[in-house]
Amino acid sequence: MLRTHTCGELRSEHVGQTVTLCGWVQKQRDKGGVVWIDLRDRYGITQLIFEEGVTDQALIDQAKKMGREFVIKATGEVVERYSKNDKMPTGDVEIRVSKLELLNGSKVPPFTIEDETDGGEDLRMKYRYLDIRRNPVREKLQLRHTMMQKVREYLNKEKFVEVETPYLIKSTPEGARDFVVPSRMNENEFYALPQSPQTFKQLLMVAGMDRYFQIVKCFRDEDLRADRQPEFTQIDCEMAFIEQEDILQTFEGMTKFLYKEIKGIELEDFQRISYDEAMTKYGSDKPDLRFGMEFCELNDLAQGKGFVVFDSAELVVGINAAGCAEYTRKQLDALTDFVKKPQIGAKGLVYVRYNEDGSFKSSVDKFFDENALKGWAEKFGAKPGDLLLILAGEENQTRKALNELRLEMGEQLGLRDKNKVAAAWVLDFPLLEWDEDTKRYHAMHHPFTAPKPEDVEKLTSDPGAVRANAYDMVINGVEAGGGSIRIHDRAMQARMFEVLGFNKEEAEAQFGFLMGAFEYGAPPHGGVAFGFDRLCAIMAGEQSIRDFIAFPKNNAGRDVMIDSPSKISQEQLDELGLKLVEPIKS
Ligand code: ASP
Repeated sequence: MLRTHTCGELRSEHVGQTVTLCGWVQKQRDKGGVVWIDLRDRYGITQLIFEEGVTDQALIDQAKKMGREFVIKATGEVVERYSKNDKMPTGDVEIRVSKLELLNGSKVPPFTIEDETDGGEDLRMKYRYLDIRRNPVREKLQLRHTMMQKVREYLNKEKFVEVETPYLIKSTPEGARDFVVPSRMNENEFYALPQSPQTFKQLLMVAGMDRYFQIVKCFRDEDLRADRQPEFTQIDCEMAFIEQEDILQTFEGMTKFLYKEIKGIELEDFQRISYDEAMTKYGSDKPDLRFGMEFCELNDLAQGKGFVVFDSAELVVGINAAGCAEYTRKQLDALTDFVKKPQIGAKGLVYVRYNEDGSFKSSVDKFFDENALKGWAEKFGAKPGDLLLILAGEENQTRKALNELRLEMGEQLGLRDKNKVAAAWVLDFPLLEWDEDTKRYHAMHHPFTAPKPEDVEKLTSDPGAVRANAYDMVINGVEAGGGSIRIHDRAMQARMFEVLGFNKEEAEAQFGFLMGAFEYGAPPHGGVAFGFDRLCAIMAGEQSIRDFIAFPKNNAGRDVMIDSPSKISQEQLDELGLKLVEPIKS
C-alpha cells in the first residue's frame, strides 16, 4: 500500500504518529513563511503544512510547485493545529511533511473541483472523471452503492435468487423502441437489447425458480428527459404462487427497509388509490400525495349560465389554492401563461378570489353573481382567503392540465417538501389503452399482464373497460416501480395478442417461445420492477437521475466523454453485411 491512512481518517488521537497519505491537491496556499496543501481523496481532506525554520527549504520549494489536482504522496508527523477547523472531520490536525513525492502531475482542470463548481453540464460530462471527484457526485454514487447492497440484503433474506438474463435477445414490444444489434454470424438478422427482462423472468417462474431478482440494465430508444436515460437500471423481480397482495406487501416492505436503513425514516403503511380515483382527484396516475388540493368538478354548477367556454366544455374542474386570495394580477397572469404553455395546452384560466371579508372577485363576474360563486366555494370547501383556479375543456386534456397546475401551486406554496415522503400504490389500471393514431388497443402495462378475472368477459364486448391486476408504486409524485400479475395460460395469452391486433402467425413468431412454455406447467406468477436510478434520486430528494449514474448520456443520447455513438469502419460494416445510405468518407 502506498499510504498508511486515508485523507479522511486522522484525528487528535493520531498526534505524534508518522503517517503517509496519498491524494490530489485540492488547493495550495503560500502565506510567505508557511505553505499549506489540502490533500483530498474519496474519504476526505487533510491539511499538510510546510513551515520555514521547521521544514527543509528544498521541501518547501517543492510544495510550492504542487498545482491543483497533482497526485502526491506525503509522509510526516501528525501535529495538533494552531487554529482548528471544526467544519472538517480532520480539522484538529495537520501533517508536518518530511517527505513529498510527486506521483503524477495534472493539467489545470477545466472546472473547479468543488462542491459548487463553475462547470456547466456539458463540460462536467465531457470530463466526468473529474466531476466524480466532487463530493456531491461522489456521494450520489456511494448512495447508489449502499442502495444496491441493501436491496440485495432484503431480497436475499426473502429468498429471492439473483439470476442474470441475456442482453442480446429478440425484439419484444414493451411500449418503447428497441435498440438493435446486427449479428455477424447470422446475416440479415438482429438481436435487440432488452427493454426489460420481462419474458425471461416469467420463464424462470415456469422453470421453478419461485423468486427471482436482478439489478439489471434495460435499454429503451426513447426521447430523453431529466429522469430518463437510454440505458437505465431496474430492480427486476418475479414471484410464483402469489397474489397481488403478496407482491404489494413484499415490495412495500423492501421500500420501507430501504428508507429505514438509508435515511433512518420509518415509513407509514402506503396509501392505496385506484387508477380511476387518482385520475379523478389529481388528473394523474402518479399523484404527488404530499399535499391535498384535490380536483373539484363544477359542471353541475357552472354550465348553462351563458358562459360559452364552460358551456361547450366536456369538463369544468378546478383546485382550491388555500390562502392565495391575495395573489396579484401579475401572479394570476403568470399562472394563466403557465397553463397556456403548449406542453400544458389549456386555453385559459378562470380564477375566483374568496376575499378575507367574505366577498368574491372572479374573472367571470359577468356571468356569475356572488351567490353562484359562493355555491362554487362551498363545493370546493373553500374558506375566505382562498383562491379557486378553474380550467375547462376536453375531459382528459383538462385533467392533465390541471394536474400540472396543481403541481405548480404545490411548488409555489412549498407543499412539495423534500423531507416529506408520501408513498402509495396505484391499483386497478386499465388493461388496454386506445391509441387514436393506430386505431388499436395497446397494452397499458405490457401484453403479459393478466386481466382481472371478473373482467375477462369484457375483453370482447368492451375491451377499454377491462381492468388489470397491475400496480404502480408512486413516491412523491414519481413512479418508482410497477408490475402486474401475469397471464400464465396459453389460451389467454393468445387471446391477449389477438385483442392487441396480432394475427396468429405474428404472435407465434414473436412469442411462440413464451406461449409454448406455458404449456409445460406454468405456475401463477407476477412481479414488479423498480427504476433503480430513479429510486436513488427519490431517496436523495433529487429530480435528475443523471448524477446517480457514473457515466450518463446527454439529452441527445450521446456520451460526450467517449464520443459515442460514433462511426464504424467499412471493414466492420462489411463483416456485418451492412451498407450505409451515405457511404463513409475516409
Ligand atoms: N417489465 C416491466 C417493466 O419494465 C415491469 C414488470 O411488469 O415487472 O415495466
